Amino acid sequence: MTTDFADRLHAVRDRLRAAERRFQRSPGAVRLLAVSKTQPAVAVAAMAAAGQTCFGENYVQEALEKMAELAPLALEWHFIGPLQANKTRPIAERFAWVHSLDRLKIAERLSAQRPESLPPLNVCLQVNIDREPTKHGLDPADVGEIAAAVAALPRLRLRGLMAIPAPTADFVAQRQAFARLRVLQEQLVTTGLALDTLSMGMSDDLEAAVAEGATLVRVGTALFGSRR
Ligand SMILES: *Cc1c(COP(=O)(O)O)cnc(C)c1O
Repeated sequence: MTTDFADRLHAVRDRLRAAERRFQRSPGAVRLLAVSKTQPAVAVAAMAAAGQTCFGENYVQEALEKMAELAPLALEWHFIGPLQANKTRPIAERFAWVHSLDRLKIAERLSAQRPESLPPLNVCLQVNIDREPTKHGLDPADVGEIAAAVAALPRLRLRGLMAIPAPTADFVAQRQAFARLRVLQEQLVTTGLALDTLSMGMSDDLEAAVAEGATLVRVGTALFGSRR
């Protein structure tokens, strides 16, 4: 089992490095976040043994159980799932990053609950880049105002933007959605925000994301196999 995980990790890393070369990105410019939602702690441990250190989780309770089991491994945990106002405290206390911030009220709670003993919580604003009616994420038109307010919160560090575009197998269409997120981020940077993270690209579209400037891709099934 451990060799399976190592093989898949190397295959995904190879895809990333190949995409960096193909699209003139610096070697190592794109970080790999392993999305371990629904996967058991033993699978995370095997991936960690193969050399992966950052893991993304979508559900608070499930994540806390894995963290407890894997505490000796000193992994970096990223919260990438839907945020509920009554469940922010364990996120503020236990995670290094939140990628799915889409409400100022939640940001204020996370900042207030972030322990003084920890560095500021790294956050990305999730953008509903295709303006899909049922999707989480900010409307692109609202991002500027929220970004300024989040950047002013003392215990958060606004790092950039995240999106999950509408699925499409068409490479050109994939690139167009990611390009819109990149342009939005560039506009924020011109307002004086120091942003360094574009969290975009998953198992099926990471090459298009790298082409458009992703600095972090969130990969689940290509690493762990299909979810339970
Ligand atoms: C599940 C999930 C992923 C990983 O998706 P795969 O297609 O399995 O690579 C990435 N980002 C978010 C926010 C997710 O919920």
